[in-house]
Amino acid sequence: MTTPQINAERLINSLAEMAKIGATEKGGVCRLAGTIEDKKGRDLFASWAKIENCEISVDQIGNMFAHRPAKNNELPPVILGSHLDSQPTGGKYDGAYGVIAALEVIRCLNDHDVETARPIEAVSWTNEEGSRFPPAMMGSGVFSGAIDLETALETKDSHGISVREALTNIGYAGDRSCGNRPIHTYLEAHIEQGPILEQENTTIGAVLGIQGIRWFDIVVEGKEAHAGPTPMSAREDALVGAANLILEIENIALRHSPDGRTTVGTMNSFPNSRNVIPGRVTLGIDMRHPEAEVLALMAEELRAGFKTVCKARRVTGNISEIWYSPPTLFDAQTINTVEEMAQMRQFSCRRITSGAGHDAKYMADLCPTAMVFIPCDEGLSHNELENAKDEHLVAGAQVLLDTTLARAAIARG
Ligand SMILES: [Zn+2]
Repeated sequence: MTTPQINAERLINSLAEMAKIGATEKGGVCRLAGTIEDKKGRDLFASWAKIENCEISVDQIGNMFAHRPAKNNELPPVILGSHLDSQPTGGKYDGAYGVIAALEVIRCLNDHDVETARPIEAVSWTNEEGSRFPPAMMGSGVFSGAIDLETALETKDSHGISVREALTNIGYAGDRSCGNRPIHTYLEAHIEQGPILEQENTTIGAVLGIQGIRWFDIVVEGKEAHAGPTPMSAREDALVGAANLILEIENIALRHSPDGRTTVGTMNSFPNSRNVIPGRVTLGIDMRHPEAEVLALMAEELRAGFKTVCKARRVTGNISEIWYSPPTLFDAQTINTVEEMAQMRQFSCRRITSGAGHDAKYMADLCPTAMVFIPCDEGLSHNELENAKDEHLVAGAQVLLDTTLARAAIARG
């Protein structure tokens, strides 16, 4: 079987075209879920897919599917894709690469008039980033049944706007039922978002799975008081308590190195006035490890550390775990296929565990799933300077195409 070569120039041009939507000064993108930029990205994807004679459908959480018919349309499809939303200071490849690579697979099959036995669908999942509306991977989570549809639609951003309102405003509150249909295989191409492939000069990562993630909200309560008359010994300073806690949270990851990760990504101090001792601080914590047992231990250490800091700093408060995403293992046979296809094209390849969450995580609950990673410059992502080399972008899309054909089967071509 010889499979067609993807059109490198078209892939790179389309990525550049998509990157213009929500483009930032430093070369990144800002396409937060449910915004006008998100709408424009979706519209562009839909317009390209329509040119390829794909039927577009949108489900109730706004996930978009571009369906390429096959010899037998009754067979469960092979779905490929990722997400078009970004972080506020996001890069142009995180997510968009997987969607555009999926589209390129369809374009290439059309160019070469290849008919597959199974239908192929390119998907753009809603709100993968979870930046405006937590949690992350919302669209694929609802599709898989892991997240309740109504709960997701009622989730509000910091201005009180719900996912339902945002999707309605941009015209992507679809009517198709979320999931509830058999899927043959899910494939996702993505930049690594870490340094390993680049450091080892390797083109393709065959992804074994995704490390587990726990998200916590912490409130530290102290007592507001005048910054002048209140002696240092009499203070209940919520921000000083939070500062001590932040250092303890870093220590949790260091104790579980090299795989442990902890990040305090958000902090708000009230009343945030120079001459008032802070009375309340809220923190947003992200904690990761590839092993569920270790991640559970890290969570226990967080609770214990919080108690210790509260006592030492005379503050109170609470910890709530707002999200747990257990570690995921992808399908062994599909991972093998990714490796074989990389070898067939003579791309260097290694197995790798994903440090970041991806929509593939939820899809792995539904069907055989695998991911194709490519290197990104200095492992940098969730940053406007995020970058990837053209040759790697092309190689990853080629492995995606070859793996897709291995799974969807050529009927004629
Ligand atoms: Zn992503």
